[in-house]
Amino acid sequence: MLISVIVPCYNEEEVLPFFHEKILEVTDGMTKKHGCEFEFLFVNDGSKDKTLLLLRKYNEADERFKYISFSRNFGKESAIYAGLQNAKGDYVVLLDADLQHPPERIPEMYEIVVGSGAGSGEVYDCAATRRVSRQGDSKILAFFSNSFYKINNKISNTDIKGGAQDFRFMTRQMVDAILSMSEYSRFSKGIFSWVGFNTKYIEVGNTARKAGKSNWNFWKLLSYSIDGFTGFSTAPLRLASILGTLTCIAAVVAAIVYLIRFIVTGETAGGFYTLMCTVLLFGGLQLLCIGILGEYLSKTYLETKRRPIYIVKESSILSKGQKHD
Ligand code: UDP
Ligand code: MG
Repeated sequence: MLISVIVPCYNEEEVLPFFHEKILEVTDGMTKKHGCEFEFLFVNDGSKDKTLLLLRKYNEADERFKYISFSRNFGKESAIYAGLQNAKGDYVVLLDADLQHPPERIPEMYEIVVGSGAGSGEVYDCAATRRVSRQGDSKILAFFSNSFYKINNKISNTDIKGGAQDFRFMTRQMVDAILSMSEYSRFSKGIFSWVGFNTKYIEVGNTARKAGKSNWNFWKLLSYSIDGFTGFSTAPLRLASILGTLTCIAAVVAAIVYLIRFIVTGETAGGFYTLMCTVLLFGGLQLLCIGILGEYLSKTYLETKRRPIYIVKESSILSKGQKHD
């Protein structure tokens, strides 16, 4: 039985040596205990530091360590897709290089997926981790993140478990299902949930990055959550129609009220401020709705271009249709 370990890497030279040591320790233990074999597939997502040099070194020393290197930074989602496409294993483990996804939990995930197949209880196709504590994270980010899951699960048919991470142990069948979704705007958390299959969540604490720094900031997270909403739900589009209907009703009611008041008391409605507020409110609402339309239009535009999700510059393996000297 072959297990592929996929690791997206972007500027991870500081943490890779720690990761390399740790993952070997964990997987060697599993090979001894269960006899399973491993391949390690690192995807270098256009790193600007010495990540690629390290990956080449690992590959020379041990051919189970393979790498794919992109021509530029395509983002973690693209790196995950490239990894899944090139993994040969019967099972696939996906985890970050920064040790925030603790490799020592892999044996437990193995037991859940592989062990459940052999036992008589419930069979799981996937084991994933869920972050329960947000210790060390900023309160504002935690608030926005929680709100994201709440709103998403309300408006979308694809529920995403709060705190669910990309750290996963999956069967080949599930990986093939994920690969069949070849969309350009990829939102893995949604894709994992959309394909279905039986997933068991195990809880993990919040571990700080071992070294190096995170590539996220507030704006990136905001744009990521907009991708999440628009990728798996068209409910925001409906918002425009609902808002439009509500404001029309409000306008008609107000007109009737003023008309009756004029007939009864002879008073005419006036006021510069009320007028300004109304104009600004409706101007804003219209822009908001055009913006939402724009979000979907831009996604459609990018999808119709059918651009590749990533471009490989160098690789230690020959992938489909690609050759290097
Ligand atoms: N990553 C990547 N491409 C990117 C950004 C990140 O492949 O453009 C990788 C990164 O090397 C790491 C994982 O994705 O293995 C998670 O990144 P990071 O630690 O920055 O995110 P966080 O853990 O803060 O969510
Ligand atoms: Mg991280």
